[in-house]
Amino acid sequence: MTPPSDDTFYGSDFGALQSFDPDIAGVLLSELDRIRSGLQLIASENLSSPAVLTALGSTLSNKYAEGYPGRRYYGGCSEVDKAEQIAIDRCKALFDADHANVQPHSGASANQAVYGAFMQPGETILAMSLPHGGHLTHGTKVSFSGKWFNAVHYGVDNETEDIDYDQVAELAREHRPKVILAGGSAIPRLIDFEFFRNLADEVGAIFWVDAAHFIGLVAGKAIPSPVPWADVVSFTTHKVLRGPRSGAIVCKEEHAAKIDKAVFPMMQGGPQMHTIAAKAVNFKECATPEYAAYAKQVIANAQQLAATLGENGIRPTTGGTDTHLSLHDLQGVGVTGKDAEARADAAGIVLNKNAIPFDPQKPNIASGIRVGTPSVTTQGMGTEEMKTIGELIATAVTKGDADPDHAVSKEVRAQVTDLVTRFPAYPR
Ligand SMILES: *Cc1c(COP(=O)(O)O)cnc(C)c1O
Repeated sequence: MTPPSDDTFYGSDFGALQSFDPDIAGVLLSELDRIRSGLQLIASENLSSPAVLTALGSTLSNKYAEGYPGRRYYGGCSEVDKAEQIAIDRCKALFDADHANVQPHSGASANQAVYGAFMQPGETILAMSLPHGGHLTHGTKVSFSGKWFNAVHYGVDNETEDIDYDQVAELAREHRPKVILAGGSAIPRLIDFEFFRNLADEVGAIFWVDAAHFIGLVAGKAIPSPVPWADVVSFTTHKVLRGPRSGAIVCKEEHAAKIDKAVFPMMQGGPQMHTIAAKAVNFKECATPEYAAYAKQVIANAQQLAATLGENGIRPTTGGTDTHLSLHDLQGVGVTGKDAEARADAAGIVLNKNAIPFDPQKPNIASGIRVGTPSVTTQGMGTEEMKTIGELIATAVTKGDADPDHAVSKEVRAQVTDLVTRFPAYPR
């Protein structure tokens, strides 16, 4: 490949932005500072590579390309066609899938398209309930999914706190849903895809997996894949996967035309070609041995973090995790999720409050926190650092304060600074 000449202009020019719009340039810089100065433990976030960010900030953003490669409604698509075809081919290879659609703008858009492909308004979907770990788009009343479709929800078992498979089977036999959906935003354990496949076959349903959270672990071959079992798998590309903020869908060949028509023209207009190029870059990254090692380390780190928090009285639901995230019950230490989030934040640790199964608190207070290891693992931290982080969270949550000037906030923040100095995000 010929290296770019000095005058090559591909899109981004921070100097030009800075001189024209110091307000927004300032936000880009202070956000980078924020990322670098704290610990990012939001389970749905990650730090994508400079290569991915470069594709995002490119002139491909300018191009209208409604349609699919070779079948566009606009002229001038020769170059963006190449980007989308590369993204499709890499996505299919990465997940060993019959078909891939890389145009969904986000996880929610991908999900909209799956509903559009398989369901008519008023038909029934069986999915995990939001308070037990599902997602807004899985039939909650505030979402299109609950307004336009009849959602029946399963939850977790009171004892194990893992999916109540007996309840799933009972509800499927009773309601005969058009679609059965597995996946969610706060499920620390592996999902039994074979069980869902057999049940879907028994009741004549489509089996859909929303793998938004864990698809990166599948890409890194660190956990079993839903792709052989499911009719359709939707996912985001910006969580563990570490690509641009976006979505994608893979499915069996028999559903390919339906899915493509549901993404465009049913739900979306022109695809974001710069984001599709960034997805292609990310899929290439995910096929490397380095990424596979990363995915395994994300899980080892999550298991260590869950264990250390547990040793400090902050109990992991289900007793631990098989994935990149754990959910913790704060009732033992007498702190609400809301307070825990604020205290951790004051100490430089970013995490989120989260409802735990059978939570007695309202969702905006919550009795739990959710922590995830994708970002800190990208920064190169390992299980030793997770022990430290677990202790720091426990100190901030149980002894700290929402005031950043409180002595405990300051003391924990000093140790956070030490960690992020040794394991920087976007090293200079
Ligand atoms: C994050 C998530 C989504 C939504 O993705 P967005 O990109 O935020 O629209 C959908 N489903 C699940 C299970 C998720 O975790």
